[in-house]
Amino acid sequence: MNLLIMGPAGAGKGTFSEKLIENYDIRHISTGDMLRDQVSRKTELGLIAADYMNHGRLVPSEIVNKMVEVTLGGDECANGYLLDGYPRTIDQAKELEEITERIGRKIDAVLVLEVGIEILEQRITGRRICPKCGAIYHIKWKPTKVEGICDNCGAEVIQRKDDTLEELKVRMDEYYKNTEPVIGFYEERGLVHRIDASGSTEEIFKNIQEILKSIV
Ligand SMILES: [Zn+2]
Repeated sequence: MNLLIMGPAGAGKGTFSEKLIENYDIRHISTGDMLRDQVSRKTELGLIAADYMNHGRLVPSEIVNKMVEVTLGGDECANGYLLDGYPRTIDQAKELEEITERIGRKIDAVLVLEVGIEILEQRITGRRICPKCGAIYHIKWKPTKVEGICDNCGAEVIQRKDDTLEELKVRMDEYYKNTEPVIGFYEERGLVHRIDASGSTEEIFKNIQEILKSIV
């Protein structure tokens, strides 16, 4: 099964990606990880990409697209893949369509996680992190035992600088501006499944599983 997952930060993309790869035995592919992997293995494409990155330049689309082709066509994706964070533009979506046709591994479904800004605001502005051990808390849903103090290591927990409503609004605007056209592209192909991501993790994942039942 070949899937694509989309959703704004705070919608639970990480959580559901993890559950999907576990339950369906498919490979999680994010372009960031893919780039790092190719660079660290010093593959031909990795070396070219490293050269751009070392000069502080963006890795060109052609290189990323070639990596996507090699990765999605590889043995590790024989049982399916879950693409995360790609494609970001219509051009990449068109390119990806050609790639997946060429390798015979077309996308079966595009899962779009949807959640209102009020809920994202609660999730994000209530988040506290421990700068020392990385533990994540939430003032309402997962509070520290002693207010403001990490349960694990006793350090003072902090609110990340960009975990504010203002930053959230900026990120959401950016997200919609970039992804709506890409979602439209897949909607034309009848692949989009919109998922209400405002309930509990269990409920939401059950809905996802129902949707996927009708696909495979
Ligand atoms: Zn800690």
